[in-house]
Amino acid sequence: MKDHVLTPRWPTWSVDHTFSFFSQILLLLGLSILAGCTSTPKKTPLPPAAQAQINALRTVPLPERLPIPVKGIKAAKLTNTWGAARSQGRSHEGIDIMAERGTKVLSATMGVVVDMRNNNLGGKVIWIAGPAGSYHYYAHLDKHKRGLNVGDRVKKGQVIGYVGNTGNARGGSPHLHYGIYLSGKGRGAVNPYLYLFKS
Ligand SMILES: [Zn+2]
Repeated sequence: MKDHVLTPRWPTWSVDHTFSFFSQILLLLGLSILAGCTSTPKKTPLPPAAQAQINALRTVPLPERLPIPVKGIKAAKLTNTWGAARSQGRSHEGIDIMAERGTKVLSATMGVVVDMRNNNLGGKVIWIAGPAGSYHYYAHLDKHKRGLNVGDRVKKGQVIGYVGNTGNARGGSPHLHYGIYLSGKGRGAVNPYLYLFKS
């Protein structure tokens, strides 16, 4: 009688145990498949030396005056186009500096090139991490300076590309769109006109 009572207990425990083991495996499989589906394309990490330079630049103050980043353009020729209405309810986060196609675009600051990927609005662009954690955006370029790469260190006034009308400027007059961001890449936009007009 004792045997009869005890025997069924063992297989019952075993089934539960086996079930929980398999359900854990299934859960892990499910999670890894989910992770595989939601993971975004990997960004190419910056070389460690470039990252170290960006960190070092954080301690350097951003000058109140910056040189106009298009060769041969004088302050008197600038128009304050900050805040002007743009498509889809956006407002203009930068300044448009009109110039002939192919005019040299110069880095307004020392910095490190962090991104050179094309985008729909900006076309051919360059992002440069500058002093005090600032980011500088140069858009609608006709071409990048040959040999310039992500991770490169640039000096103030160095040629980084050439004025064009790529991206949503296509069909319009060539110009440089220049944006300054103080709180990270694409965050904390400030009016570049106020920095350039004094130069
Ligand atoms: Zn613009």
